[in-house]
Amino acid sequence: MIVLKTSRELSIMRKAGKISQTALRLAGEAVQPGISTWELDKIVHNYITKMGATPSFLHYQGFPGSACISVNEVVIHGIPKKETILKQGDIVSIDVGACYQGFHGDNAWTFPCGEVSQEAQALLDATEQSLYEGIRQARPGNRLGDIGHAVQAYAEARNYSVVREFVGHGVGAKLHEDPSVPNYGTPGRGVRLQAGMVIAIEPMINYGRKEVEVSKDGWTIVTKDRSLAAHFEHTVAITPDGPVILTLLD
Ligand code: MG
Repeated sequence: MIVLKTSRELSIMRKAGKISQTALRLAGEAVQPGISTWELDKIVHNYITKMGATPSFLHYQGFPGSACISVNEVVIHGIPKKETILKQGDIVSIDVGACYQGFHGDNAWTFPCGEVSQEAQALLDATEQSLYEGIRQARPGNRLGDIGHAVQAYAEARNYSVVREFVGHGVGAKLHEDPSVPNYGTPGRGVRLQAGMVIAIEPMINYGRKEVEVSKDGWTIVTKDRSLAAHFEHTVAITPDGPVILTLLD
């Protein structure tokens, strides 16, 4: 069931989104060779709790961190660890959610650690742009397939591949609500978008093949061919005037 949000709820969600975005930026600014993903997780945790919010991911289905931190061939759901130390040339995906006054914000970004290869930087740039291509389609009257197709077409035109097993989602009083928001699709197909819907659009784009697998820890999702993966996400409200990104600062 898709829950539409009132304007009062959207204003709370904007605050949750800002907290999520600031926590993500603070962690991103700390990405450098020698720091552990555990330390990045602490930055996220400390900021969110200082703001009177709660980290959406902590203990979600048993997840042990406040952020998912996924390095190189890890696509999503990487567990922050003291022994995972970043190196020059890594790409580091940080996924952060915050719950404020009962509503969630959810966003992710992939940061370069120091100088990265041209190939890695091109993947980051393309995945970021594929997110904006998807967001542009998030307007009343369009359908979910328009969003997925926009992301997929942009990524595949550059010979990257789109992860199928994990998708975006509705966001609200629950972190994951209906509808599912795939990063692939057919224009004009799927659920019709309407004002009041809030969705997380989150392309997961692989440098190599699209297949992924779950690691032994039961959480960490890696590319099957161990090629690099990038992940960018915003929480977006669909309004009569078009898409409004809630996970942005003023
Ligand atoms: Mg999400």
